[in-house]
Amino acid sequence: MSDPPLIVSVLKGNGIGPEIIKSTIAVLESTCINFEWREVPIAEESIKLYGHPIAPEVVAQLRQTKHCIKAPLIVKPGQGKTVCVQPDGSQSTYPSLNNAVRRELGLFVNVRPIRGYTGVSGAYEDLDIAIMREVTEDVYIGHEHGIGNDLAAEAIKLTTRSASLRVAKYGFEYAVRMKRERVTCVHKANVLGMTDGLFLRCFYEVAAQYPQFKVDDVMIDAACYLIVKDPKRFDVVVTPNQYGDIFSDLAAGLVGSLGLAPGANISDDVCTYEASHGAAPDIAGLGIANPLALILSGVEMLRNAAYQKQADAVQRAIAEFLQKKQYLTPDLGGIAKTEEMTAALVQGVRSQL
Ligand code: NAD
Repeated sequence: MSDPPLIVSVLKGNGIGPEIIKSTIAVLESTCINFEWREVPIAEESIKLYGHPIAPEVVAQLRQTKHCIKAPLIVKPGQGKTVCVQPDGSQSTYPSLNNAVRRELGLFVNVRPIRGYTGVSGAYEDLDIAIMREVTEDVYIGHEHGIGNDLAAEAIKLTTRSASLRVAKYGFEYAVRMKRERVTCVHKANVLGMTDGLFLRCFYEVAAQYPQFKVDDVMIDAACYLIVKDPKRFDVVVTPNQYGDIFSDLAAGLVGSLGLAPGANISDDVCTYEASHGAAPDIAGLGIANPLALILSGVEMLRNAAYQKQADAVQRAIAEFLQKKQYLTPDLGGIAKTEEMTAALVQGVRSQL
């Protein structure tokens, strides 16, 4: 009898989303895991079906499966807020569609592991950090308003004890699971003493329960400098929403491309796996998008779903592929199309099994 399928929801996204989803499914399928992919409509497709970019039916479908591969979604500046209608008819308002997915599913931490690779990461090939970005609060709650006639605007930065403790706890547990050595809190508590100050205190409260780790904290501006000058200085990083967003893109740039930076959004019931990058509308439809960040997000999914052997096989295949420097997409300095890169990766994974 064959194994029960690993059921995965798929959000195809837009921009380069459908291209990198196709590639990711092909590479993950080459592990011979028995997958069942369930496509869930979002954005334009959900509007067509349900009249809304993230309808209650969509949220309900996503909640039915533990794992979801999510491609990026375009959010244009000034597009306005995303409103989610709840089953009881009430409405929740979020600053963007991506934010709405995370908050509707109760995803509380965005894990962004960023590793350098021989062949494409230059001086940063030894970089290996995992950023735990809190994703339920901070300035991204989207509570902002204008004052007067274009005279000023203000936004609320929310930090709660419960969310700060939760992300710190997740960071330390991740460090235990992944056999890491150091956990660093990145913040700006010298200026934002109330909000980041609370975040930092919560971090040290949790840290006290994990005496086996080296523990410290660094201001976000210094952290940006230090990761460039001394990349090995960081291991696991725990940080509020906005700093995590920016710091992880910086780290991705150091290792060679946003196309190498995966991510996982975690809650107790549902996890979505998505690249750190956006929908790259500038290259959408050209067939040159680098799918590796989404494939590496799929590797995180395999690890969380206890397919360790297959996750290692894909990870090794990617490392070997990058080392050979063949079939690289333009963002990595090559001229290959997404499909050519995908075919080479499928071959590589098969040879690892
Ligand atoms: P972006 O990450 O989409 O693109 C930044 C640059 O990196 C572009 O030059 C792009 O071509 C390149 N790039 C990104 N991913 C790539 C890949 N896989 N392969 C090759 N090149 C790649 O950032 P942006 O331009 O600021 O945002 C574009 C859209 O994506 C916006 O609407 C934004 O709101 C949205 N976005 C979505 C998410 C998400 O869904 N989680 C995250 C960030 C941005």
